[in-house]
Amino acid sequence: MEKSAVYPGSFDPITNGHVDIINRGLGIFNKIIVLVGYNPNKLTTLFSVEERIAMIRDVIGDDSRVKVDSFSGLLVDYVGKSGTSCILRGLRAMSDFEYEFQLALINRKLRRNIETVFLMTGSKWFYCNSGVVKQAASLGGSVRGLVPNIVLKRLKEKFPDVKKNNSKK
Ligand code: ADP
Repeated sequence: MEKSAVYPGSFDPITNGHVDIINRGLGIFNKIIVLVGYNPNKLTTLFSVEERIAMIRDVIGDDSRVKVDSFSGLLVDYVGKSGTSCILRGLRAMSDFEYEFQLALINRKLRRNIETVFLMTGSKWFYCNSGVVKQAASLGGSVRGLVPNIVLKRLKEKFPDVKKNNSKK
């Protein structure tokens, strides 16, 4: 029986915390669709959808169990059309819990058959999120170990002057 799940997020950019959830998710599901969400009216991300997808594909490599896609509408509509009924999410702190709890309930209200499955963060990735990674990288802090190497490279390209700026002070 095929057990598949959609793993939605902004992945701006993908971190080792996300990678951990995907790898452990593959122990439960035969197929995972990593879904990059975006809002066409709010262009506040550091990386474009295409850049985020390219980084995820690079990190996943040649694994036919993982598909990468993007969406901008209602998540439950995408999940319904994708032929799965499961949403995979990761949980870090209590602050994630409240938000995720609301999201899971509203999604189930919108589509009764959809269940959200949560995996607890790996202890190494407890404090790892895309926001802190971007902030640290933009200020010249090292995020090595928190993101895959390809992301490290892309972050350096996004903030080429960061070292120069720091040394001026
Ligand atoms: P972020 O909060 O890093 O911007 P996303 O919106 O891309 O994350 O998150 C997508 C999903 O991945 C969410 O369920 C989020 O809780 C989960 N996630 C993100 N980082 C981690 C992590 N370090 N450990 C476990 N789950 C995570």
